[in-house]
Amino acid sequence: MINFNKPYLTGKEMHYMYQAVYSGKISGNGLFTKKCQAFLEEKFGFKKTLLTTSCTDALEMAAILSEVKPGDEVIVPSYTFVSTALAFTRQGAKIVFADSNPRNPNMDADKIESLITPKTKVIVPVHYAGIACDMDKIMEIAKKYNLLVVEDAAQAIDSYYKGKSLGTIGHLSAFSFHETKNINSGEGGMLGINDERFIVRAEIIWEKGTNRNQFFRGEIDKYGWIDTGSSFLPSEIISAYLYAQLENMEAIQARRKHIWNRYNNGLKDWCNQHHITMPYIPDYATNCAHMFYLVFNNVSQRSAFIAFLKEREISTVFHYLSLHKSPYFKNQYEGAELPNSDRYTDCLVRLPLYYELTDADMDHIIGTIKSFNP
Ligand SMILES: *Cc1c(COP(=O)(O)O)cnc(C)c1O
Repeated sequence: MINFNKPYLTGKEMHYMYQAVYSGKISGNGLFTKKCQAFLEEKFGFKKTLLTTSCTDALEMAAILSEVKPGDEVIVPSYTFVSTALAFTRQGAKIVFADSNPRNPNMDADKIESLITPKTKVIVPVHYAGIACDMDKIMEIAKKYNLLVVEDAAQAIDSYYKGKSLGTIGHLSAFSFHETKNINSGEGGMLGINDERFIVRAEIIWEKGTNRNQFFRGEIDKYGWIDTGSSFLPSEIISAYLYAQLENMEAIQARRKHIWNRYNNGLKDWCNQHHITMPYIPDYATNCAHMFYLVFNNVSQRSAFIAFLKEREISTVFHYLSLHKSPYFKNQYEGAELPNSDRYTDCLVRLPLYYELTDADMDHIIGTIKSFNP
């Protein structure tokens, strides 16, 4: 059976975790957390990063920092993971769902302005598959209406928009190191801060609403409860695991891009012939090879494809049921139809993509796909 995903181990994870355990400091914000944060700040150019235990946590921190209150509106794509919206509904915000582009699942930047009201506070672009949203347009709208931009860059590590790292363009951003992502620590995440105004408060929210971080730096002589917050920081064991992955980022990305390109080249003609769509990457965006997907013409064609591959022991998956139609949200949804989001819900399928897929595996998968007659 060829699995859909297999988390990659660089080999150094256990070594660093052993070091963390025997250092005698295994709670959060220790040596490995600082090493990871410094690495990420330096490589990608954030003003500040804070590791979290998930991207969901980082989004929740961003929602708190945005100071959204009940009644405030937040613009989120409907075709995304639950957490993109959930983090803001927990603060009482009203979610206004945006449709995807016709050409890829990212939010359609040309339609955002029509969703803005006097209550709008935040736009949350999701860089689907690590392919950049149209950030110039989104930042321009945000500036015009005085809104914050929180990038959901869960899938977008080491990917770029006009040469800028994704996650460094909006005011805040959230990354995931879940085992299905390019760089993983099982569960894990990071808040990226690009607007300096948020740094001090973010550290407090991260540490259960206390100013413990300032205390450790010797800036104050006792610490206490000064704000809202939670325990958002990962233990040193998780950060140690993550550091081994970060050190190997180049090799991981190179291998994933090799696999992605092999799919792209191997399936191009077959897709054209059957009017099946492959990932579209605009000129302003790079590809971090988080995902290779196909978009079929209808739901029954996609179901037949998934079943055909499953019979031949190749696992493929679809994901994201339009959030505006989810059981939790559908009764409160007041917006328009979102036809592109619904189309990706019905027609998109993800192919296996992980470091250890061999070239022989790839030839086998591509050959099997081409033997399917849609
Ligand atoms: C994976 C993912 C998340 C959630 O990440 P966790 O680390 O599991 O909380 C959020 N948004 C998007 C777009 C994702 O792909």
